[in-house]
Amino acid sequence: MSTSVDLCAPLAVLGADVQVPLVSGEKVGYAALDYAASAPALQRVWDEVAAYAPYYGSVHRGAGYLSQLSTDLFEQSRRTVADFLELREGDQVVFTRATTDSLNLLAGALPAGTRVFAFETEHHASLLPWAQAGLPVSYLRAPRSPEQAVAALAEALAQFPEGPRLLCVTGASNVTGELWPVAELTRVAHRYGARVVLDAAQLAPHHRVSVRELDVDWVAFSGHKLYAPFGAGVLAGRSDWLDAAAPYLAGGGASRTVAREADGSVAVEWHQGPARHEAGSPNVIGAYAVAAACRALTEAGFEALEARERYLIDRLTAGLAEIPQVKVLSLFGAEAARVGVLSFVVEGWNSSHFSAALSAEYGIGVRDGLFCAHPLVRTLLGGEEAGPSECGAPEPSLPGERSLNAIRVSFGAGTPEEHIDRFLGAVRELVSDGARWNYRNEGGRCVADTRR
Ligand code: PLP
Repeated sequence: MSTSVDLCAPLAVLGADVQVPLVSGEKVGYAALDYAASAPALQRVWDEVAAYAPYYGSVHRGAGYLSQLSTDLFEQSRRTVADFLELREGDQVVFTRATTDSLNLLAGALPAGTRVFAFETEHHASLLPWAQAGLPVSYLRAPRSPEQAVAALAEALAQFPEGPRLLCVTGASNVTGELWPVAELTRVAHRYGARVVLDAAQLAPHHRVSVRELDVDWVAFSGHKLYAPFGAGVLAGRSDWLDAAAPYLAGGGASRTVAREADGSVAVEWHQGPARHEAGSPNVIGAYAVAAACRALTEAGFEALEARERYLIDRLTAGLAEIPQVKVLSLFGAEAARVGVLSFVVEGWNSSHFSAALSAEYGIGVRDGLFCAHPLVRTLLGGEEAGPSECGAPEPSLPGERSLNAIRVSFGAGTPEEHIDRFLGAVRELVSDGARWNYRNEGGRCVADTRR
């Protein structure tokens, strides 16, 4: 079926033509519907990286031509990211490995005793670094509407009116895809004198993120979810606490001067600015790839990308609503605005079994588990007992066991409509006819049994 509305074409991504084997021995085009974990590289990002690669050189103090070129491109990449995020004067962009790294960096840079507020619905990357850094944390219960979230934050902040405080909040849930009221939460946080870090890991690939407009103090995201899988991520925002903090890693690049003292000790003067937290040789290609993705998405236009994604989301949710055995997981209700991320369970099916059948029999790649957001998924599944403790690992499963985990389908700028339609057709068929093959556990993973 083709679209009846005027939409932009999907952006070209790597892997669009990859054929994968089915358990039957046939081959089909792979339908990559696990963008929320890692999105395929944009062709444009790949091409720009390939064009730069021969000119790659050591950055910063290299005297040669390629070193200078690479240093310029590295610093230009920082400016591109700053423009992409619409940073304020004086804000800085630190290149990290990914969102997890960015939030751990920030956790270590907060003034001593900073109280952190986080909803228990957060991804573990947003939930765990704070207590790990020895900071007091107020975990807020799962709200059932954006308004409840705002009210819960105000109430929590009122109980702790003094001292440095930080709210860490996701822009879009990695489980439900639902959008969080970031601007409203930030207004409340600022009214109480608290700062805000936005976890934009799932938001930035789908929506324009303007630090100026949202007024958040920091934002973190991952290159590999933004079509730039070259190992770089970003922490961007206010400089004051970052400049006052001990460097994230101690080493070259972060240190301006190191001198031996008369007493035999070593005195270090650390850099201010991004270099302070980027010790070691930086990931120039990764940073360049993130900047290339920022350029590509900006040029494609978020308005057009969002319109297309909205169409696919509506098509997906309408299709799933017609299958009574499918229960879509939601905190804020069916009408909540979301990005192209949706989790569900299927009555009578173990989620690992269902996902395995989608892959083995239809060539569709989704994800099953608790998606590194265990408290949230357990709440959404009705508070059922503990699922797996390892990130993304399914519990041992047999067909027909009840759901202790969920299935997540996620997509983005490179997804053709055909993938959504194929996915819906496969879900309908599996629900009505069952899997055609037998499945068994192999090392904790549900796999098709080819010994049929
Ligand atoms: N925050 C959210 C909302 C996520 O979805 C993820 C990853 O799935 C992360 C943080 C962690 O990102 P990364 O694994 O790239 O560090």
